[in-house]
Amino acid sequence: MENLTDLQQLLAQYKQREAELERSEARLRMAIASANLGTWDYKPLTGELTWSDECKHLYGMAPEAEINFELFTEHIYPADRDVLELAMKRAMDPLGDHIYDITYRIIRFDSPEVRWLRAQGKVYFNKLQEPERFIGTIVDQTQAKLAEEKSAKLAAIVESSDDAIIGKNLDGVITSWNPAAERLLGYTEKDVIAKHITMLIPEDRLEEEDLILERIRSNKKVEHYVTFRVTKAGLEIPVSISVSPIRDVNGVVIGAAKIIRNNAHQKETEARLLRYAENLEVLNALGKVISERMDVSDILQKVTDATTRLIGAAFGAFFYNNVTEAGESYMLFALSGAPREAFERFGIPKNTDLFHPTFTGERIVRADDITKDPRYGQNSPFFGMPEGHLQVVSYLAVPVISKSGLVIGGLFYGHPEPAKFTREHEQLVSGVATQAAIALDNTKLYEEIRKLNDKKEEFIGLASHELKTPVTSLSGYLQILNRSLPDTDRNKPFLQKALLQVKKLSELISDLLDVSKIETGQLPLSFSNFNITQIVQETIELIQYSTKTHQIVLQQPEQEIIISADKQRIEQVIVNLLSNAIKYSPYEKLVNVAISVVHNEVRVAVQDYGMGILKEHQERIFSRFYRVEELASHISGLGIGLYISKEIITRHHGKLWLDSEPEKGSTFFFEIPLNT
Ligand code: ADP
Repeated sequence: MENLTDLQQLLAQYKQREAELERSEARLRMAIASANLGTWDYKPLTGELTWSDECKHLYGMAPEAEINFELFTEHIYPADRDVLELAMKRAMDPLGDHIYDITYRIIRFDSPEVRWLRAQGKVYFNKLQEPERFIGTIVDQTQAKLAEEKSAKLAAIVESSDDAIIGKNLDGVITSWNPAAERLLGYTEKDVIAKHITMLIPEDRLEEEDLILERIRSNKKVEHYVTFRVTKAGLEIPVSISVSPIRDVNGVVIGAAKIIRNNAHQKETEARLLRYAENLEVLNALGKVISERMDVSDILQKVTDATTRLIGAAFGAFFYNNVTEAGESYMLFALSGAPREAFERFGIPKNTDLFHPTFTGERIVRADDITKDPRYGQNSPFFGMPEGHLQVVSYLAVPVISKSGLVIGGLFYGHPEPAKFTREHEQLVSGVATQAAIALDNTKLYEEIRKLNDKKEEFIGLASHELKTPVTSLSGYLQILNRSLPDTDRNKPFLQKALLQVKKLSELISDLLDVSKIETGQLPLSFSNFNITQIVQETIELIQYSTKTHQIVLQQPEQEIIISADKQRIEQVIVNLLSNAIKYSPYEKLVNVAISVVHNEVRVAVQDYGMGILKEHQERIFSRFYRVEELASHISGLGIGLYISKEIITRHHGKLWLDSEPEKGSTFFFEIPLNT
C-alpha cells in the first residue's frame, strides 16, 4: 500500500512537472514567435533537417514546403558558404565548445533577395561522442546589418571629409570630431571630446552658440552662417558654418552635426575680385588720360601715380632714358609716393648691373628682397642703397619701350617690406607700360609735327613779309614804266604781261600773309555798311574782264542788300569762289552767281558745272594747304584760298559750305547775318 501511495505521489508529481513543462514550452514558443525567431533542428548523423514555420518564413518558404540540408546549403549566399561550413564544423567538434553563432547571408527561396540572418545553436553528442542533434534559432538581421553598413559608410565619409564635422549634444558638449576638424582648428579629438563647444567661439561671438542651439532644439537647420572660429593657436579664422539637428530613432532631437568650412579661400576670392574691379577702374581712367593728354610729363606722371597705387607700392618713379654722347644717363621724370628730394639727393642712378636690364629693355626685374640680389650693392660709391635712401626691399622695374624698339625709360617701384610685388603686378604694369609707350610715341610725333609746323608758319610769315616790299615796289616801277610807254611801243605787251604776273605774285604773297595772320589770330577786319549786291557785281565784272573762257551770270534781287562787313575781305571771298569755279571747270562755259535773302541772312551762291568734289574731300578743302590731289598736279594753286575765305566768313558770324557732285559741278555758298 505504501508503495502504491508512493507511486501515486510520484505520478502526481510527474503530472505536475509535465504541466509545468508544457507551460514553460508554451511560454518559450510564445517568446520565439514574438521575437520572430525561427528554430531549426538538424541531425548530423542522419542528415535530417526540420525547420519551424517561422524559420521557413524567414527563408521565404511556404509552411508546408519540404526542406532538406542540400536545399539549405544551396540558398546560402555563395560568398558566405565557406564561413558557414567552418562554423558548423567547429560547433560539431567534440573537443570544442559546441556553440554555433554566425551571421551570414541567404538568398531567399521566393525571390533573389539577399537577407542577413543570425544563427545561434548548440550541438548535442551521444555516448560515442558523435554529434547527435544540432539545434538552434535564426533571426533576421538585415535591417541591423544595413544600418551598420550605412553608418560605416557615413563614418568613412565624415572621416575623409575636407570639411570639419563636429557633433555636439543639446548642451553644446562636443561628442565627435573628425580629422578635418583637427586640421582646421588644431585640436585633436582627445582635446575636445566632452568639452563645451564655446571653446571654439571667439569671446565677442559667444551668443551665436545660444542662437544656433535654439534653432537646433526647434529642429531647424542653420546654413552657411559666415563667422569666425578660434583655433588651438588662438587665431581667429573666417569660416562658414552649417548645423543640422541629429535625431534619435524616434525623431527626437538629441544633438547637432556642425560642418565648418574654412572661408579664407572664399574671402580671398572675394578680395581678388574686388581688386580686379578696382584695377580695371584705374586702368580705364588711365587709358582715357593717356589717349587724351598730349603732354609727355602729364602722361608719365599719371602713369606713375596710377601704377604705384595699383600695385600698392610705397613709391614709384619713371626714369627717362637719356642716351647722350657721353653715355647713358637716367633722368627722374615722374615720382609718386615720395618727395623729389628723396631721390635727387643721391643723384641720378647709374648704369649698374641692377638697372641695366631695365634700361636696355631686356626684361622686367622683380625681387622679393632686392638687398639679397647678387647684383645689388656692387657699385660705388654707395654699395647698395645710400644712407637715407628710400627704404627699398620689394623691387619691381619695368622697361617702357617704344614701337621702334627704343627704350624710352623705366618704371621703378619700391616697398620697405619684402615680397610685396607679384606676377600679377608685373603684368599689370607691363600692360600699362606698353600703352604708355604708344601714347608717348604719339606725343613725340605730335610734338615734332607741331614744332615743324611752328617753324613753317614762322617761315611763311617771315618770307611773305620780306617778299611783299620788293614786289610792291617792283609793281610800282612797272606801272610807272607802263604809263610812260606809248601804246605803240612794241615792248608794251611784254610789260603788261610782266605787270599781270607781278599782280599774281603779290596776291599770292598777301594770301600767305593772311594765312600767317590767321594763325596768329591777327587778321584785322574793318567793318563798314555797304550794298553787297554791288560788290558782287563789281567783282564779277573784274573777273569777267580777264576771263574769256567763261560766262558769269548773276541772279540778284531788286532791292539793295546792305550789310555791315569788311568790304575788301568779302570781295576777297567772292574773287576766290569765282576763280575756283572757273579754274575747276575748264571744259565748261557757265558760272552762275545768285544772291538771295534767307531768313535774316544774305546768301551768295557760286555754281560751276565742272569736275566737282568727292564727299571725302569736301570737309578738308577748307583746311590749310589742302588740295584734292588728282587736280593739284595740273591746276595751279596753293590750297589756301578756301581756308582764308572760311576764316573771313566765320569772323563775320556767317558760314561757308558747298554742295558738290563729281563730274557735275559744285556750288559754294556763304551766308552772312544781315544785322551784324
Ligand atoms: P587752290 O584752288 O589754290 O588749290 P583753294 O583753297 O581755293 O586752293 O581750294 C582747295 C581745293 O579745293 C582745290 O585745290 C580744289 O581741289 C578744291 N576746289 C575748290 N573749289 C573747287 C571747285 N569749284 N570745283 C572743284 N574743286 C574745287
